Amino acid sequence: MRITAIRQGIAPISSAIANAYIDFSKMTASIVAVTVEGEGGRRATGYGFNSNGRYAQQGLLAERFIPRLEAATEAQVTAADGRLDPAGAWAAMMRNEKPGGHGERSVAVGVLDMALWDAAAKLEGVPLWRLLADRFNKGRADEAAWVYAAGGYYHPGKGVDALVEEMRRYLGMGYSTVKMKIGGAPGTPIRDALREDMQRIEAVLKLLGGDGSRLAVDVNGRFGLHAALAYGAALAPLNLRWYEEPLDPLDYATHAALAEQYAPPIATGENLFSMQDARNLIRHGGLRPDRDILQFDPALSYGLVEYLRTLEMLVAHGWSPRRCVPHGGHQFALNIAVGLGLGGNESYPEVFAPFGGFADDVPVVEGRVRMPDVPGIGFEAKNELLAVLRTLG
Ligand code: MG
Repeated sequence: MRITAIRQGIAPISSAIANAYIDFSKMTASIVAVTVEGEGGRRATGYGFNSNGRYAQQGLLAERFIPRLEAATEAQVTAADGRLDPAGAWAAMMRNEKPGGHGERSVAVGVLDMALWDAAAKLEGVPLWRLLADRFNKGRADEAAWVYAAGGYYHPGKGVDALVEEMRRYLGMGYSTVKMKIGGAPGTPIRDALREDMQRIEAVLKLLGGDGSRLAVDVNGRFGLHAALAYGAALAPLNLRWYEEPLDPLDYATHAALAEQYAPPIATGENLFSMQDARNLIRHGGLRPDRDILQFDPALSYGLVEYLRTLEMLVAHGWSPRRCVPHGGHQFALNIAVGLGLGGNESYPEVFAPFGGFADDVPVVEGRVRMPDVPGIGFEAKNELLAVLRTLG
């Protein structure tokens, strides 16, 4: 196997929305195309991009990770059985990088890692989910993935009625579970913010027939322990699907304190970018393997090579991969969910286009989505995204 070309670009994923912590008006994504040549001149071009929430990584890609991947020898990127080896490529990219302090290099490496897995599956002529099931899951793939509609962002001037209308659209698209942002009322004392959010939550719950298991709420790491506990006390009787990122993602001790008080499921992990950070959460965050949800996003955290290490770590700590529901709403994580038996995947029906969303013509039915039988990640079955990726030439 030989890497013959790597191209990178930047695409906007800006949107006039905000969560409790950031707005997305200037958000960008890196896109890459990696062309690989194998036995007998067989070639494939794999595509990658970074997930929303972090910006394009053109500097790190241009200065460190693309040159290292270009310089990788054939032996480094070829497995013993002659196939393209993303783990070998990963090791070549991470040469001369110290441990710890992962920063956003994990995003840059993740973009290239996604392209390498896309190419690996294309070279074998199989969908990535099938390749993953065969290599890592004894051939077992799920028939469909559970997905939920993530939205409920703050827009200027968006009131409760517009929020409920948005959620009604998601139900009409075939989703049965929805997620909304909370904790974003700017500069409001906690008591007033909580009152306002409870009105928003109860309006959406009414639409869901009062079934809390069909609604998740997301704080995006905004709260300190005091606010997280105050909200937790109000939310607990609603038995929500989960209470997401209530606290700073790296503050494990406060998670443990909240988990002692708040019995229903807590979800977090989308802003932990390495196996080691994930392991610290598992060791010190007080999370409960029988109910809590882990949202590590492979596209932001060094890619699938690292995600496989994270899954191995989780199993060693008594966690099932079914507790994982990755952040990001992209086809890469959806392939991983189906091929490796995760609990499901996020979906953004109305934001982060064209990177969010799955293959065209694959409907969501009762909150589940099937995978197209297309070689690679499936970008060739998603026209709007493919058009952006093809600008790389
Ligand atoms: Mg989130």
